[in-house]
Amino acid sequence: MQDQSAPFFERKGKVIAFSRRHRFEAYLDKVFDFSSQVEALPDGRLYPYHSSKKIFDAVFLGAACQFRSVHRLETECQPGGVLSKRIGPLSEDAIGYALERYDSQAVFQLGCAMARQLKRNGVFRSEWSRDLVVAAVDGIEICSSFVRFCDDCMERKVTHLVEGELREEIQYYHRLCAVTVVSSAFPIPLGLRFQKPGENEVACSLDLLRELTEQLGRRFLDVLVADALYLQASFAKEIEGLGLDWVINLKENQPELLTESERVISAVAAEKKDDRPELQLWHAPEVYWPAGDRTVRVVKTVRQQPVKRWCVQRDEQGEKCAAKETVLESSTNFYASNLELGSVPPVFIHQLGRSRWIIDTEVFQTMTTEAHLKRPSVHQGCAKAFIVLTRIRVLAYTLTLVFFFRQVRSHFRKCSLGFCDLAQKLAYWFVVLQTDSS
Ligand SMILES: [Zn+2]
Repeated sequence: MQDQSAPFFERKGKVIAFSRRHRFEAYLDKVFDFSSQVEALPDGRLYPYHSSKKIFDAVFLGAACQFRSVHRLETECQPGGVLSKRIGPLSEDAIGYALERYDSQAVFQLGCAMARQLKRNGVFRSEWSRDLVVAAVDGIEICSSFVRFCDDCMERKVTHLVEGELREEIQYYHRLCAVTVVSSAFPIPLGLRFQKPGENEVACSLDLLRELTEQLGRRFLDVLVADALYLQASFAKEIEGLGLDWVINLKENQPELLTESERVISAVAAEKKDDRPELQLWHAPEVYWPAGDRTVRVVKTVRQQPVKRWCVQRDEQGEKCAAKETVLESSTNFYASNLELGSVPPVFIHQLGRSRWIIDTEVFQTMTTEAHLKRPSVHQGCAKAFIVLTRIRVLAYTLTLVFFFRQVRSHFRKCSLGFCDLAQKLAYWFVVLQTDSS
């Protein structure tokens, strides 16, 4: 563990004295020994002009400050920029060149090392998940473009409007799968994997889960939650082989299981709890699933929720006006699972199934908007650099979340600072440090 009081860091071989370190970096070193772990990452270049740590730090800190692109990062490293003293001059080309030669697997492993530490620190636990570590898996599309592409791009033909006329053109894009812990107080992405051309999302996710199990060990995760696309007999068998229990949405893509579930549940009485009047639940512990030649547990829920929506009303003068009214909207869900419940009530399956939404509504949304995952920086002709850049960006997003929830927010009881404001704050602290040191 590094000495946190050390008021300096090394840049271009020179020891630069600072009155204090950036709070985010000091926190990461204290909890994760982060600098040493980054320092130890392998460098694929023979005669590097910039050290690989400098490149990593630039991309990582730039992502934490939510700089939109690598071009913007170059600007912020120049004199007068937020990272001018912490990183120093660094061109977009130099970043792209170094990232293209970076070991993307080493960045994946670094993310796993962080995850192991977070688990040791008890961050994955929560009361609602009954101390089980629950992860969600899902896929997302990034970087679609008609112009920019790399060797690993996926392709599809798209008809779209070009200068007033409809044209069929090849669109390039990437898809990636991510596994995120959702039982923690805030979502924690564990790892991501890019889909290869011709590979489907479920196969890609399965490979990611295998890689994570290899790195993190069995029993690191307890339950996997996923959308209906993943409810396939072979996928269920494979993840059970990895030691995972699962809760997956059941929809029309498994018609036989859905029909059989509806038949069994029609003979079961609905459960209702006094503390959850909005929820009706049916539980069938054993429903035969022909595709897998096995039985699974199925839970059906009907949830009524008040939703505000716009409607047309008449005011006191009888004029029409827009107003908001509250209506009850009901949603029906089926969940299939292999989980042994024992004495745990079946509403737990509903809670697990619903936790899947976190990956869509929080992780993917924030990553694409604030971590600028969809921005195709260093993409054209840089297939490897693009993967490394994305992995470092997601790691920066994860560790910024950890810092935000464990350090910033927990220190202010009524903290109004949001996650987006934090990026500005992180950048501002760099400016303060620069002023202090000049
Ligand atoms: Zn590409």
